[in-house]
Amino acid sequence: MPIAGIYGRDDFARSGRAHPAAMLRPVSPAERARALPMPSLEWTPEVERATAHLYERVKNVITPVEWPFMAPYVKAINELKAPRNAVILAHNYQTPEIFHCVADIVGDSLQLAIEATKVKESTIIQCGVHFMAETSKILNPHKTVLIPDSRAGCSLASSITGDDVRLLRERFPGVPVVAYVNTSADVKAEVDICCTSSNAVQVVESLNAPTVIFLPDQYLAKYVASKTSVKIIGWKGACEVHERFTGDELRAYREADPSVQIIAHPECPPDVLAEADFTGSTAHMINWVRKNQSKRVVMITECSMADNVQAELPDVEMVRPCNLCPHMKRITLPKILDSLVYLREEVTIDPMIADKARRSVERMINLKN
Ligand code: SF4
Repeated sequence: MPIAGIYGRDDFARSGRAHPAAMLRPVSPAERARALPMPSLEWTPEVERATAHLYERVKNVITPVEWPFMAPYVKAINELKAPRNAVILAHNYQTPEIFHCVADIVGDSLQLAIEATKVKESTIIQCGVHFMAETSKILNPHKTVLIPDSRAGCSLASSITGDDVRLLRERFPGVPVVAYVNTSADVKAEVDICCTSSNAVQVVESLNAPTVIFLPDQYLAKYVASKTSVKIIGWKGACEVHERFTGDELRAYREADPSVQIIAHPECPPDVLAEADFTGSTAHMINWVRKNQSKRVVMITECSMADNVQAELPDVEMVRPCNLCPHMKRITLPKILDSLVYLREEVTIDPMIADKARRSVERMINLKN
């Protein structure tokens, strides 16, 4: 069914409120007081020996010239996890030295948050963007959740606030609201249920309603609308990485090599998805490449994910249009080390908002189960 309408902030009078990710918290005296000594960051034969097995994992995507600058951080981070009783979660869009060399758990944002509920460590370091760290905190309220750079935002999460959701509810009374997990805790607290890009259609249909408000990604909303008979009301949010791809770009790849397989994320515009051989979430895209083992694959998503898949599957030639997420790229090895040394930057959520947001996230998880 064609999408019923897409609304944005221009359609409402609204109160301005900064997204929490916009606030950078300096190191506090308390954080300084509990700091561990900063480890040596020299490239030595011992560092080379201790990290050789990790370099094996990434040698297809990180050159021998780059590795001596990364390896001392990799060793220091891995050695500090135990004294800090910490586990490192890394999103599929993190760079290979983080994803393959220091992360304990990798995956999409929801996989990370769910897996984090199963670990015994008391501290979670989230290598991803702020809404992901919030989701981990929502599901793990008694653990300390740290993000190496709290400025790591997201164009989707910052496109909408809890106030916007309340205004939408006033405009469309009684219409249930689904929020993509790429939203702040404030927004999750105002909606009926959350969804991911892999279960969005299932979540919308689970509500048994003729019309559903789906926010904030207008392109994911259009994708869902194309797959269901439920009337979808969208919001004018977009992922600044995926909205840059065009159908012309994909046609050019196919003209250059008709045998190429093109796989795309549903946050892309409809003309892009129309050209793709497969559309799916990051986890589904990775599984698709593992299963199909095609010779050449164009991965239409954030380009570090193609690097991570390339490191795992060197026989598949990954064509990676290099659209980087500037927010994901705020997370670096030096900042992860700082997180462990200073225990910063801690993610906190008002307990009342966290309780309401947890209901929306858990409703989705229970539906999945
Ligand atoms: S890739 Fe897009 S959706 Fe993901 S964090 Fe970056 S801006 Fe947000």
